[in-house]
Amino acid sequence: AISKQEDPDMYLRVVERRPDGIVVRGAKAHQTGICNSHEVLVMPTMAMKPDEKDYAVSFSVPTNTDGIIMILGRQSCDTRKSEEGADIDVGNYNFGGVEALVIFDDVFVPNDRIFLNGETEFAGMLVERFAGYHRQSYGGCKTGVGDVLIGATALAADYNGTSKVSHIKDKLIEMTHLNETLYACGIACSAEGHKTESGNYIVDLLLANVCKQNVTRFPYEIVRLAEDIAGGLMVTMPAEKDFRDPITGPYLEKYLKGVASVTTENRMRILRLIENLALGTAAVGYRTESMHGAGSPQAQRIMIARQSNIAHKKALAKVIARIKE
Ligand SMILES: Cc1cc2nc3c(=O)[nH]c(=O)nc-3n(C[C@H](O)[C@H](O)[C@H](O)COP(=O)(O)OP(=O)(O)OC[C@H]3O[C@@H](n4cnc5c(N)ncnc54)[C@H](O)[C@@H]3O)c2cc1C
Repeated sequence: AISKQEDPDMYLRVVERRPDGIVVRGAKAHQTGICNSHEVLVMPTMAMKPDEKDYAVSFSVPTNTDGIIMILGRQSCDTRKSEEGADIDVGNYNFGGVEALVIFDDVFVPNDRIFLNGETEFAGMLVERFAGYHRQSYGGCKTGVGDVLIGATALAADYNGTSKVSHIKDKLIEMTHLNETLYACGIACSAEGHKTESGNYIVDLLLANVCKQNVTRFPYEIVRLAEDIAGGLMVTMPAEKDFRDPITGPYLEKYLKGVASVTTENRMRILRLIENLALGTAAVGYRTESMHGAGSPQAQRIMIARQSNIAHKKALAKVIARIKE
């Protein structure tokens, strides 16, 4: 139980209650885009027991509030990408970002910014509903990344000269099929949503969890097919600096060329983009965030078990099998 932890700060908690607000201490790992966000929204990540009141806390404060410290996460090949003059080597020039470990070192939260403060009975419901929306959003978010990856892979095939080969065409169809299945799940859990008593809408929780469970799997297969089609050069390619170098550049220009009609530079650009999408983090990439973002696969399986209504399914089978009791 969190209240029995050796170090009580290992789960964010209230350390002081004042008439005008609370003081919180703890940390939130993995925060995507936090250093370019105006506000940080904090909430529990699990159901709470009655003696865990100090941990049942939800609030929002500006990210420059006193006591908030951000320690940036590092990403694969980030020194290569941040080298002066890097362009091709950045992989995704239009969009980059980072995660950070965010520390709340005795941060004051005024009363009007607190959403949950000791009401342990609501922590579980808050997590379940938030996770439902977040798992729904993956049916759009990761499908968008998938669209770009499929496009980049199709271009790589064009530039490699393999786009007319039957297994390459079929693999692009498979990537599209998997990606659109994720999209269909996102649409389905939204369309099957319902109005709550307060007037808000909530997604269908079973379908949202099915959506995210698929997201923990299909992007891995989509990336596998992208890497298959792109070829090994997407990870063995020399640096942009070598490409611009007067001695090594001409060799790369000559020997890294694919089809005659496409420049070596454009081929390098598309392979770096595939590398970026396949191996990056949430802020730029695809895979590990698909696995863990909005909860690891087992978290969805718990929700699927809760929502699956096996009793109803058994009743249907009994009717058809003509079983009376
Ligand atoms: C790229 C990326 C971006 C993210 N962005 C954000 C963000 O912006 N904001 C945010 O709040 N979070 C964010 N997350 C966090 C995400 O929600 C967590 O990574 C996820 O919930 C898994 O938690 P964990 O990483 O601590 O892994 P763990 O919980 O350590 O999971 C590792 C493994 O242990 C298993 N496990 C853990 N605990 C138990 C248990 N009690 N019983 C049985 N099995 C268990 C899990 O099922 C899993 O298989 C991000 C994560 C990633 C990877």
